[in-house]
Amino acid sequence: MLERDHSCSSSIRCPIQARPRHAEQYQEDRQPRRPRRRSQQAQDHPAIFNELCKMLDPGKPSFTPKKGKTSVVMFVGLQGSGKTTTCTKYAYYHQKKGWRPALVCADTFRAGAFDQLKQNATKAKIPFYGSYTESDPVKIAVEGVETFKKENCDLIIVDTSGRHKQEAALFEEMRQVSEATKPDLVIFVMDSSIGQAAFDQAQAFKQSVSVGAVIVTKMDGHAKGGGALSAVAATKSPVIFIGTGEHMDEFEVFDVKPFVSRLLGMGDWSGFMDKIHEVVPMDQQPELLQKLSEGNFTLRIMYEQFQNILKMGPINQVFSMLPGFSAELMPKGREKESSAKIKRYMTMMDSMTNEELDSTNPKLMNESRMMRIARGSGRQVREVMEMLEEYKRLAKIWSKMKGLKIPKKGEMSALSRNMNA
Ligand code: GDP
Repeated sequence: MLERDHSCSSSIRCPIQARPRHAEQYQEDRQPRRPRRRSQQAQDHPAIFNELCKMLDPGKPSFTPKKGKTSVVMFVGLQGSGKTTTCTKYAYYHQKKGWRPALVCADTFRAGAFDQLKQNATKAKIPFYGSYTESDPVKIAVEGVETFKKENCDLIIVDTSGRHKQEAALFEEMRQVSEATKPDLVIFVMDSSIGQAAFDQAQAFKQSVSVGAVIVTKMDGHAKGGGALSAVAATKSPVIFIGTGEHMDEFEVFDVKPFVSRLLGMGDWSGFMDKIHEVVPMDQQPELLQKLSEGNFTLRIMYEQFQNILKMGPINQVFSMLPGFSAELMPKGREKESSAKIKRYMTMMDSMTNEELDSTNPKLMNESRMMRIARGSGRQVREVMEMLEEYKRLAKIWSKMKGLKIPKKGEMSALSRNMNA
């Protein structure tokens, strides 16, 4: 039995507007943000920052629904990505702006999907359509869209089942729903924590239906949403909104600058890459950058960086530029101790063989090697272990450099494939 709710009765007609880029379209909605230090830093060093902003601009705007003119918007994505929640958020957002949205639940695969949508829709006083018994999503989608067209709803949102790229039958079903309802816009919903897997998934969806926009959910969590870069690349579609919580109104128009600032995250890579030209002696730059871009942060590189750091003063300033070096290796007010520690580390590294210094194999440093290094440098084994722990910590952070394009001096076009979640 099909169930629907009639709260639409008349349509609201608005003059048709020119189709602006989505970013401009929703300009007025952007929340004023507290200035953030990291964001400021990133913008002070615009190279990577700008490149990432560019990567998030596919060069064409998404379709934007017009008030008073019926649009069908279909939501697709992996199960659990936040699709059903986002459908309601999207509807609620537009309802507040004067649209007449309606929700159609064409997810017949997940038990409880209709109840979830119904509950959300009821809370937001948005008309909905779905069925507990009908198993054909195409039938439900078509009937829902037809019903709401008759009721002059101007934004008909179709929620579909979550699916994974390996589920061929579900992809075929999604294609059929799209063919039958002819959506004006298909939105790919992705969880911010998906990371680089986003590319393959987004591409699979794009190959079956004509994805025209991306929404990144769960931006309130720890993930930085780096997968959005992949999703934009795979679908050639812009990110239009982000989800920032479980509640209906925790939904923001996508704003590229704060998003990229967050993406640059743990190290201020743009600032670092700019400064590296100043800090690292000219003759060492290309080699160091090359090594870093290959992701090989060896003990020798750490040693060379320590040398640079001790050479340059004031030591604190230099530290603050190197991702990972500042807070733990160099607590504020303890510069003297820190530089003594670095010298101690370097003494221990002086007792290492070339093989040990150049190795990227973490298993190489076994107990007997550590004992030999301790003996050779007159230090305790536990101090050697501490130094190796420090190395591992830095190597982990610097592994993010892998894939960086090597920028030429004065031509900072570095960007990272790996700046992900
Ligand atoms: P679907 O399977 O893709 O339809 O996903 P759901 O809409 O059922 O969402 C899966 C879970 O993610 C639910 O617990 C939602 O409350 C939660 N969720 C959705 N969007 C967000 C978001 O932006 N932030 C947070 N924290 N949780 C979200």
